[in-house]
Amino acid sequence: MLGVENLTVRYGPHVALRGATVRFEAGSFSAIIGPNGAGKSTLLRALVGLVPAAEGRAVFDPGHSPDCISYVPQQQTLDWAFPVTVWDVAMMGRTGRLGWLHFPSRKDRVIVEDALRETGVYELRGRHIGALSGGQRQRVLLARMLARQGHLLLLDEPLTGVDPVTQEGLMALLRAQADKGRAVVMVTHDLEQAKKWCDHLVLVNGRVIADGTPAEVYTAANIEATFSTSLLGPAHTSGSEVV
Ligand code: ADP
Ligand code: MG
Repeated sequence: MLGVENLTVRYGPHVALRGATVRFEAGSFSAIIGPNGAGKSTLLRALVGLVPAAEGRAVFDPGHSPDCISYVPQQQTLDWAFPVTVWDVAMMGRTGRLGWLHFPSRKDRVIVEDALRETGVYELRGRHIGALSGGQRQRVLLARMLARQGHLLLLDEPLTGVDPVTQEGLMALLRAQADKGRAVVMVTHDLEQAKKWCDHLVLVNGRVIADGTPAEVYTAANIEATFSTSLLGPAHTSGSEVV
């Protein structure tokens, strides 16, 4: 449904990802797993078109394009001081980043209300996003993603800063999205969560180390190859993206 073919991404002289070929299918819940600086966020950004390919390309099946993507960036890279409410952020899933693309219709408001209820933050809809906990922020980002109603869901470390009970709820929600026929792709550090909920694992460390079902991929040799050597040095924190 979407994927990358022989994808290499560079930041200046630095190669963040080399020769990656992966496909993500409709109805499948995929996890991209690897250490800090492995190129996980880079892989998602290349799918969304936020970083250019030095070689290779992102590919979409006919009828799909980056416009079908709902992308949830890493929470830490967003500007949470931005003066908007929970409702406003979820509504951005309908109207575009700052609501300037069109004025919300009644249908947009119903979709946003449903998304806020499904992620359990409807009661917080009038709150300023700066006043939320990490777990609440993550749910608001998921609500915006659901409101967008895209068929390709890409999430960068959605479990970070979320308590264990909420984590289970979020994973169940994402599993349900895949079971509805969407392609769900999540970056995570949590191998155990990935093994439990996902049907497709991609191990990454500067390149794709392994790609397949949990049973195929989850071997001592693959885990060792992914996590034992830090090929890339310390993680880089990129600049802030506006919510
Ligand atoms: P991950 O998400 O797996 O932690 P990233 O994809 O963010 O890794 O980064 C992969 C590599 O590219 C890292 O070495 C990181 O330092 C580097 N990198 C990421 N973003 C940038 C950037 N905007 N400019 C320069 N280097 C970057
Ligand atoms: Mg990252």
